[in-house]
Amino acid sequence: MKVPFLDLSLQHQALRAPALAALAATYDATRFCLGKDVEDFERNFGATLGYPRVLGMNSGTAPLHVACMLAGFGPGDEVITAPFTFISSAWGINYVGARPVFADIEEGTFNLDPAKLAAAITPRTKGIIIVHLFGQPARMDEIMAVARQHQLFVIEDCAQAVGARYAGAPVGGIGDVGTFSFYPTKNLGGCGEGGAFVSRREDLQTRARHIRVHGSDRRYYHDIIGGNFRMDGFQAALLNVKLPHLAGWTQRRQAIAARYLQGLTLPGLRLPDQPAYGRSVFHQFTIRHPRRDALREHLTRQEVGTDLIYPVPLHLQKCYASLGYGPGSFPVAEQAAATCVSLPIFPELTDAQQDHVIASVNSFGR
Ligand SMILES: *Cc1c(COP(=O)(O)O)cnc(C)c1O
Repeated sequence: MKVPFLDLSLQHQALRAPALAALAATYDATRFCLGKDVEDFERNFGATLGYPRVLGMNSGTAPLHVACMLAGFGPGDEVITAPFTFISSAWGINYVGARPVFADIEEGTFNLDPAKLAAAITPRTKGIIIVHLFGQPARMDEIMAVARQHQLFVIEDCAQAVGARYAGAPVGGIGDVGTFSFYPTKNLGGCGEGGAFVSRREDLQTRARHIRVHGSDRRYYHDIIGGNFRMDGFQAALLNVKLPHLAGWTQRRQAIAARYLQGLTLPGLRLPDQPAYGRSVFHQFTIRHPRRDALREHLTRQEVGTDLIYPVPLHLQKCYASLGYGPGSFPVAEQAAATCVSLPIFPELTDAQQDHVIASVNSFGR
């Protein structure tokens, strides 16, 4: 039985008629940049997930960039983030001329370790970018306590955690700014590029709205330095069609994860921890095994698609060679990169396919 790692065509076939109707309406109304579809999406997204105000943007990288501008990070400043994430979590720090500093992750959740975070703080530390990796909320109580003690600006990268809650609160609403991505492979994916910015702080929300359109509140008057971070009408129209399905898709991901957690019994396997403070929305289901590459080859022979997310931690990427880190700088992140493999977990996966994934993993080495 073939089990693809991810098949986005199923979701798009199922929603083809309403999606194309929504695109046609936006086309006919000539609503291409911001406009009613984007405003509707911002309101719907906020109401569905529990954010008072939302700004649609043109990628998940965009709100991270905007957040770093708002935070006032700049040359000489250090901003701490996790080394085990997608590179975009750190880009905003570079875009404003500040220096990314990494702190190691904890083994169970792949998220920033609050003790390592505290140890990485120097007099130059100005902020933290928390990543809720693979859909699992990070340990926000401990992280926010460190942030308050040192008066740090906190950005939550929720690109993989749309719909996740930490102790009942939606992720992204705990720190100063929360950011989302609607890249097609995310839990709520558009048909192209998209992202969102949330903040419970009115002042930041207002400035972000101006930065999004070239630092302007009034056309051709530019009070602050801005850029073009606008969401386009077609993406918002599609996301408005998809958003009502998100809760069901999330439940489905969680149900698949529950079956994996119960069914995967291969000796030596490390399953992701399920901490009581916040339930994952399972953007990925990532397991670890000391013989990861052999396990992966075995799964390929069983026609089970897998992916390596992530093969190289950020501190060992070429682009960050000048930061001066090396092998051994962050052992937990490096160990994760060397031993992790992600299994198929998209909502359309059938029960029989899940059973095949479980049986294939469990039969490794037999
Ligand atoms: C996808 C992703 C982003 C960036 O989103 P884009 O929409 O691709 O710009 C940022 N951070 C994390 C953790 C992501 O997974």
